[in-house]
Amino acid sequence: MKLNELTATKLIELLKNKKCSALEIIEDTFDEIEKKEPEIEAFITLTKEAAFENAKRVDKKIASGEKLGSLTGIPIAVKDNICTKDVRTTAASNMLENFVPTYNATVVEKLNAADAIMVGKANLDEFAMGSSCETSAFKRTKNPHNIEYVPGGSSGGSAAAVAANESVLALGSDTGGSVRLPASFCGVVGLRPTYGAVSRYGLLPLASSFDQIGPFGKTVADVELLFNVISGKDLKDSTTMNFKTKNNSDFDVKSLKIGVPEEYFGDFIEEEVKKSVLKMIEFFKHSGAQIKKVNVPHMEYMLPIYYVILTIEAASNLARYDGMCFGLRAKEFKDLEEMYANTREEGFGDEVKRRIILGTFLSSSESGSAYMQRAIAAKNELLRIYNELFESCDILITPTGSAQAFRLGEVCDPIKMYAMDLCTLAPSILGIPAISVPCGKGQNNLPIGTQLIGQRYCEQLLFEAGKFFEKNSL
Ligand code: GLN
Repeated sequence: MKLNELTATKLIELLKNKKCSALEIIEDTFDEIEKKEPEIEAFITLTKEAAFENAKRVDKKIASGEKLGSLTGIPIAVKDNICTKDVRTTAASNMLENFVPTYNATVVEKLNAADAIMVGKANLDEFAMGSSCETSAFKRTKNPHNIEYVPGGSSGGSAAAVAANESVLALGSDTGGSVRLPASFCGVVGLRPTYGAVSRYGLLPLASSFDQIGPFGKTVADVELLFNVISGKDLKDSTTMNFKTKNNSDFDVKSLKIGVPEEYFGDFIEEEVKKSVLKMIEFFKHSGAQIKKVNVPHMEYMLPIYYVILTIEAASNLARYDGMCFGLRAKEFKDLEEMYANTREEGFGDEVKRRIILGTFLSSSESGSAYMQRAIAAKNELLRIYNELFESCDILITPTGSAQAFRLGEVCDPIKMYAMDLCTLAPSILGIPAISVPCGKGQNNLPIGTQLIGQRYCEQLLFEAGKFFEKNSL
């Protein structure tokens, strides 16, 4: 087995016992990248030279007995909407094709401090808007399990890189499901952390009240390892909090109360997905967990709540791309007004324009704040319902996606694409953590993921439940 095929947890053990070197890990990783990348297209930019230099630096550190970071020598892919100093950061948009940040996002600083090794910047839907990775201005990432299918989005490049062993770990961002859906489509583990658990400083914003950076790995333990590195208070992001993850080393599946919301198993869920997720629930039941059917009314409001708030925030956040400070400026224009218009016409793709127009309309003076106010009122009602559920359940289990990955080019209707997120939206709207764990495979060799949802700052319980499933279900 090649080193890049192992988990981060295993590699760290090998490195510590001097059974392999960081350079060997990075060599195997780039061999794989060179072999697979022409087909998979997971990356927008590769940072091979820096990765090799870094690996040599880490090996020196190991040799001299210096204290090692907790991700020593581990290859990682970083979604290309996370700022990396001196490395192009495009958000997969023509608008930022040549944008080179002068600073690192906080999460990147933390990766560096932990001695992780960035291998490149991963492809995404333009400005993280999409569920298939197809709105990228540059390339179409393929699903490593079957290259005629999408990897999911928006963090499709990150998920595909891990699934194809082109990287051991990856970072994505999750606004409405962009870590969890591609994790499910690509058969890897992906976490959306509690809102405020991970700094957003240096993440190009889509909808600031939903955005969270989240980890990908091959196993729950790897995702936990990466989460522990990137989480914590950051003075540069005032929404972050210092928190202690409860240590669940005394985790006992028999005292786990699992809620199964009936509405997530309706007709809109593909049969094979339903079967796999129910099998996982059955596994927990046989292991002694208490399973309880619960109800989450108002599913029909999930998409409207999300898209009203998202488009309003996105229209505002993307106003900064006007040809003045960042990225592209149109070559031809008569006056200032036309410069703005031409720059935005040339720089943004269709999906981004659609959302800017919608968000501008929804927040325009004619609309007053009617839409936003109603969306927030509905969000509060949702919060009440979920808080009540968590009085009697520790976690909820649902499918991550309503279906398995679809063919490239198959979903063209934007509304149908938005509906792909139906199962992942509640945690995004409520700011609570959720993890997608592979639970089987369906037709055409395509993976299926189950979503475990917890209360704020209860990531550790999700990790313990996920690890228990991984260890005992095979
Ligand atoms: N697919 C969702 C959207 O297009 C989620 C995006 C995300 O989480 N970044 O908004």
